[in-house]
Amino acid sequence: MLHVLRRRVSRCLTLKALSPDQITIDESDRHQPSKILSHQYRRGITVSTIVGVATIILVIAIMIWSAHESDRISRERDADIAATVLSQSIERVAHAQESSTIWDDAVLKTAAQPLDLDWIDLNLGTWFWDYAAIDEVYILDPSNLPIYAMQQGRRTNPANYMALRAQSVSAIENVRNTSGKPHSKNDMPVMLSHGASDIVTINGRPAILSVKPIVSDSGEISQIPGSEALHVGVVYLDRGYFGQLSDQYGLHGARYKRTPNLAAKEAHVPLLGVNQELIGYLVWRPFAPGADVISTIAPALGLGAILAVCFIVALSLRLGRRTMDLYASRAQAEHIAFHDQLTGLPNRAQFEAVLDATLSQSFGRSGSFALLFVDLDRFKIINDTLGHPAGDLLLKEVASRLTSAIRASDIVARLGGDEFALILKSPIGSAIIDGICSRIVSVLAEPFDLLGVQSYIGASIGVVIAPQYGADRSELARKADIALYRAKSEGRSRHVIFNPQMDQAAQFRENFTRDLGGAIVDCENQLQIVYLPIFCAATCAMTGVEALIRWNHPERGNVSPDTFIKFAEESGLIEDLGDWIFRKVFSDAKLWPDLRIAINVSPVQARQKHFSERIMRWLKDADINPKQLELEITETALMDSNSEIGANLKALRANNVRIALDDFGVGFSSLSYIRDIAVDRIKIDRSFVVSSGTSKGDALLEAIIKLARSNNIDVTAEGVESQEQFEFLRRLGCHEAQGYYLSSPLSVAELLRAQSGWATGSHELLKRPAA
Ligand code: C2E
Ligand code: CA
Ligand code: CA
Repeated sequence: MLHVLRRRVSRCLTLKALSPDQITIDESDRHQPSKILSHQYRRGITVSTIVGVATIILVIAIMIWSAHESDRISRERDADIAATVLSQSIERVAHAQESSTIWDDAVLKTAAQPLDLDWIDLNLGTWFWDYAAIDEVYILDPSNLPIYAMQQGRRTNPANYMALRAQSVSAIENVRNTSGKPHSKNDMPVMLSHGASDIVTINGRPAILSVKPIVSDSGEISQIPGSEALHVGVVYLDRGYFGQLSDQYGLHGARYKRTPNLAAKEAHVPLLGVNQELIGYLVWRPFAPGADVISTIAPALGLGAILAVCFIVALSLRLGRRTMDLYASRAQAEHIAFHDQLTGLPNRAQFEAVLDATLSQSFGRSGSFALLFVDLDRFKIINDTLGHPAGDLLLKEVASRLTSAIRASDIVARLGGDEFALILKSPIGSAIIDGICSRIVSVLAEPFDLLGVQSYIGASIGVVIAPQYGADRSELARKADIALYRAKSEGRSRHVIFNPQMDQAAQFRENFTRDLGGAIVDCENQLQIVYLPIFCAATCAMTGVEALIRWNHPERGNVSPDTFIKFAEESGLIEDLGDWIFRKVFSDAKLWPDLRIAINVSPVQARQKHFSERIMRWLKDADINPKQLELEITETALMDSNSEIGANLKALRANNVRIALDDFGVGFSSLSYIRDIAVDRIKIDRSFVVSSGTSKGDALLEAIIKLARSNNIDVTAEGVESQEQFEFLRRLGCHEAQGYYLSSPLSVAELLRAQSGWATGSHELLKRPAA
């Protein structure tokens, strides 16, 4: 048991601690992974689709923005061109005028009386229509009266000037006032003479109006500044004029408009007179390279966007499926890692993590909890007799009964084999624990239907209350194990709650077991075999001996085998001890080849593989006839007769080794063994012999002996302590007897001394006092 305990503790210690998030996995969610997964799947797809679509929208937005920007820049450029063209047009008119207005001949000809109109046509009038595309020319005398007019290439009535007189007043005044003065900074830098220009409306038509004084180029004609004849040029800014702009500067559809049509997205620049009065607008269809590009690529772009969205959605779906597969396999791996595959309960790893978490939560709070170790009492027998499928079925049913016996907040886990563990959560009191444990014991005591066979098991439970009796997992496990051990040794199918005295007992067991291990190593000094003589009841001759082990503990003195055999069985030391006993007894037995030698065999030994072969080999090695050997087995071992024990005993009997049923009558259903099981002898337990002399005791002894005899089985009575008992057993027909009345156990030397007399069956020897 200490073995098991140590193994368990070390397993506890080596197990990697789980992270808290692994511990808090919600059980209800674990059982519905598809719900979480489809949620995560949908979320994943939505997120990736949103990201994809947002990217596309962003790309489109950037394209539209940059198109818009390039359109804006283009519009600004067009406006700059328009403004430049306007100012250059004004300059051009003034410049053209200067080709004739700075000329001595012109001064003289415009002052002559009468005017040489033909000359004026050729040099100052119609000539400008042909040469500079000036629509109208007017010449004014020093008092601003028109003396000449040219309209559309033809000389006309100077009175026509009246149509623009009002519009030209400010320009004329300007020229008159500045004439003869140095150039002002407002003058156009390239000009040779003063002049003034304006944009005006003439008969509803916008026009450039430019006024130049007609001055001497040689300076030889004296003129009074401000009294020169004036040359007035008019260029109409109508469709024809602006049409040229379209061609030259790319201002498409350039034209004059009184008000621009903003809805039609026309570009425009205002036409302002010198006094900033609004004449109208120059409008044109703006060049929009961005919009053009967009409108050209829009269908392709739209199609591309649709394809991209489809692609993203398809990709997201695929990705989502992959993710879901991954989640599913992770969830499955997690489930496998933390669950027992057979019962579906949490496994040891998860249980330990939960136990750690429960422990850390319980500190600092008044709440306590209980740790339960549940061990099935007869699981191995069921597994061996009905097979593994039945064993599996049993474990599943146990798991389900345990789950239904506890509250939802409690935990039940399968630690392995037939070991189950539970955590009963706080607040918990011993009355509640008693109630739950009794319920568990009783539900597991109910019959199990295993593949049509009604089977009964039972359960033993060890309980420890935490954190009162343990601050860490391994400490609690050790104490729950101690309590479980106690429950089993008190007769199974019960629960025991740990208390500190049990710990002392366990400590004692551990020390004792360690000492026993030492004794086996130091066998020649500490261990001894003594022989209890067995006599024929009828003749009183010694027929055999029963070998009994003695341990002389260096400190405790003689220790009863009743005590240490149990520890040897629990710790597994019985295997080494048993081997030593066999070989020792076989070496002694050569000294009395005519006596039967009985050796006690523990079920643990008899269950060993190749047990029968080993015995036969040792018999052979010691040159002992198998008929001389009798093995004493208790009922508990025979109950297991379908397993390895049965096979070993059968093989031994086949080789003439005899089998005796020891301590007969102490166990249950004993009589059936006499009938069903092949044993050569029964040894009536001392307790029956003690009760002889009472009517009930006598009747029982009589019944057992009769039953054995009628089944042709030899009977030996154990623990015969008085002549009366011996005489009574003889009368009942008991074959053999042993006990202090006949002889106490003897050493080899004592036995050799006594043997010769007893072998004859002398009555005097029977009167020896008990040792
Ligand atoms: P057991 O097989 O029933 O052995 C008989 C026990 O009764 C022995 O006790 C013996 O000393 C004692 N005894 C004999 N005559 C009398 C009597 O008249 N009155 C009383 N009160 N007792 C009597 P022991 O040697 O203390 O052994 C106790 C038990 O330990 C044995 O019971 C047997 O089960 C076990 N045991 C002893 N030696 C061995 C061994 O070598 N191997 C195994 N596996 N078990 C052993
Ligand atoms: Ca015995
Ligand atoms: Ca016995």
